[in-house]
Amino acid sequence: MAVKSAKERRLAEHLRLIHDRLYGVYGDCTCPLEHADAFQLLVAVTLSAQCRDERVNQVTRILFSAAPDARSMAEMPVERIEEIVQPCGLHKAKSRNIKAAAEMIRSRFGGAVPRTMEELTSLPGIGRKSANVILGNVFGVPGFPVDTHVRRLMNRLGAVATQDPEKIEAVVNALVPPELWTNFSHLLITHGRRVCHAGRPECAKCVLNDLCPEKGIR
Ligand code: SF4
Repeated sequence: MAVKSAKERRLAEHLRLIHDRLYGVYGDCTCPLEHADAFQLLVAVTLSAQCRDERVNQVTRILFSAAPDARSMAEMPVERIEEIVQPCGLHKAKSRNIKAAAEMIRSRFGGAVPRTMEELTSLPGIGRKSANVILGNVFGVPGFPVDTHVRRLMNRLGAVATQDPEKIEAVVNALVPPELWTNFSHLLITHGRRVCHAGRPECAKCVLNDLCPEKGIR
């Protein structure tokens, strides 16, 4: 990793401190979406858009008991998928994407979820965030998924000044060791859910308090 300027070195150190503080609290995190393999995580990630993980897990337990893999999902009528995933919201679009992705995995990738960013993002409904979740959590390929919590915390903490997920991902890719990327994203998401809420962050009890330029302004 080539750190070029003094500014980048300061930012790399800032990110390292943030990581280490959060790691001290939350440690090694696991993906909260229940899955047995890459295909099931792909489906769960698709369902998780604008839906809580707990609800996704309730729904996927039913869905995977009927169609646990790409082949069986490709054969399931889309109306049946819609019926099962309805509690997750946006169920028509999500069902269409799940079925189309399953069909493509079956026809183009021999039934196995592909392992590259380019191939994953060619699947319906799969963007960089979802692809990074799959790469990092199932295939052991470092990835830094940027969701709404990561975006909010990285901005509040002064690490970036952009809402563009790809630019945020690029900063971390350039300044944080790859082996930390996946868990660093989990740490930020966990802290965003538990302490640095979107509406009322609990700055007084935050372990990043002294590192955060936004401390105390809310
Ligand atoms: S000090 Fe407040 S705004 Fe900053 S990361 Fe902590 S909870 Fe969020």
